[in-house]
Amino acid sequence: MINFKIVKSKIEKQREVIIARIKRLRKDDPFSTTDRALIVEPGTDAAQLYGHEQAVVLENQLKRELKEIEAALLKMKKKTYGICERCGKKIDLARLQVKPQAIYCVKCLKEIETKKG
Ligand SMILES: [Zn+2]
Repeated sequence: MINFKIVKSKIEKQREVIIARIKRLRKDDPFSTTDRALIVEPGTDAAQLYGHEQAVVLENQLKRELKEIEAALLKMKKKTYGICERCGKKIDLARLQVKPQAIYCVKCLKEIETKKG
């Protein structure tokens, strides 16, 4: 049996960390005052531009993680947490402890990754 309380608090903590990281990223981004779109004006500092690109890439990555985490929390509410979305079997507890927002079991994940090549 999965100890939902532990996993849930772990996910919630992770969620807070990611939100904090996104906030910090926006603060550090030299282009944060703009509307997140990459506007290249003549004379734009190359280093700043690079910094902005990195920030956007990282932010997108964090947003994706946040989405996964929120999906996991939603699943907990619906009581479908820990069930593989592909085969419907229970996901290994060991796997959930490493990656609480996992949606596939190890077997399915391997198969998906193999198909990807
Ligand atoms: Zn599966």
